[in-house]
Amino acid sequence: MSKFLNSKIKNLSAYVPGEQPKERKYIKLNTNESPFPPSKLAVELAKAELEKVMLYPDPDCKDLINEIASSLSVKSENVIVSNGSDEVLNFAFIAYCDQDTPAIFPDITYGFYKVFAGVNGVPYKEIPLKEDFTIDENDYINQKGVVFIANPNAPTGINLSLDKIEKIVKSNLDRVVVIDEAYVDFGGESAVKLISKYDNLLVTQTFSKSRSMAGARLGFGVASEKIINDLNTVKYSTNPYNVNRVTSAMGIGAIKDKTYFESNCAKIIKNRELLTEELIKLGFTFTDSKTNFVFCKHDKVDGKTLYLKLKENGILVRRFDLDRISNYLRITVGSIDETLALISAIKKILGEIL
Ligand code: PMP
Repeated sequence: MSKFLNSKIKNLSAYVPGEQPKERKYIKLNTNESPFPPSKLAVELAKAELEKVMLYPDPDCKDLINEIASSLSVKSENVIVSNGSDEVLNFAFIAYCDQDTPAIFPDITYGFYKVFAGVNGVPYKEIPLKEDFTIDENDYINQKGVVFIANPNAPTGINLSLDKIEKIVKSNLDRVVVIDEAYVDFGGESAVKLISKYDNLLVTQTFSKSRSMAGARLGFGVASEKIINDLNTVKYSTNPYNVNRVTSAMGIGAIKDKTYFESNCAKIIKNRELLTEELIKLGFTFTDSKTNFVFCKHDKVDGKTLYLKLKENGILVRRFDLDRISNYLRITVGSIDETLALISAIKKILGEIL
C-alpha cells in the first residue's frame, strides 16, 4: 500500500473473486460460469463489430437496450445496461445509499455488497438468514435503508417467492429495493413484472451465467424511468462508454437466440437434478437451489477437506471460510461430462477417507 492512499480505501477489504488458476487445467466449478459456449449468433455479430473498434460505442446502447426491453415486455426507458451486473449494483449504492441511508442485506449473501458499501463509504446492516438459510421477508419490512436481496440468493441458491418480494417492495415505498437476479433463469421467478407497479423497485440481471458471457461483461437493470435516469446520471458521471461495442453486439445476438438460451438453461436444470440425486446417495445434504450451482455439505467429511481433495483431483469448487457455512461447498453445475467427473471424483475421495 502506498502512503498516498486515502483512509476510505486504506481500510477496505476488496472483493476476492473465485480462483482463476493458470498453472494446470481444472474442471472449473467454482465461479458459476456456463459450461456452454456463447450463442453462435452472438459470436457472429461480435466478429462483425471488431472491425469498428476504432470508433467509440453508442453510449446509450440503444439497439441493445431495445432488444432487452422488448424481450422483457418493458419500455426502453426502463432499462440500463452495464459492465457486468456488478456495475449497475454499484451504481445503485452510489445513487441511493449515504450516511443516513445504509445498505441492508442478509448476513449470508453475495459478498460484493459489503465491498460496494465500503468503497462508497456508506454504512451497511446485515440481517441474519433463518437457521435453514431462508430469508424471512418480515425482517425487511419498513426498513430505513436500501434493501439488496439476491434472488435466488447466493451462495445458498434459495429462491424467495414473488409475493414475498412484493411484500418487501410494498413496505419500503420511500426507499429503493434492489433485487439482484443474477441466477433467476435457472428456476427463479423474476420481479421484472412488478416494475410497472412499484417505482422504488430496481431489478438487476446478468449475461454472465445463463447466456454464457461472463468474459464479455454485460449486465442490466430494469426499473421505473426515474430510477433509470438516476442510474444514467451515475453512469455518465463515471464511464459513459461502459459497455463496449463488441459486447453490445454479442448481447443482441444472445437475446435473439432464444432457443439456444432456453435449451442451455434446461440442460443446467437437468444436470442440477442429476448432481443432487447422486450427491444425496453419497451422504450430502442440500439447500433447495434454483440456480446454476448447488450448496451442499457432507455429514461426515468437513468442507475444507473436501475442497482440498477435489482440488488435488483437478476439480475446483468454492468454499467460504465464514461462520455458519464453512462446511458447505458451492459447486457450479457444469456440463454432463463435468457433472459425471465430479461425482466419480467425490466417490473416490470418500472411498479414501471413510
Ligand atoms: N450478483 C450475484 C448474486 C452474483 O453471484 C454475481 C456473480 N459473481 C453477480 C451479481 C455479478 O455478476 P456479473 O458482474 O458477472 O454480472
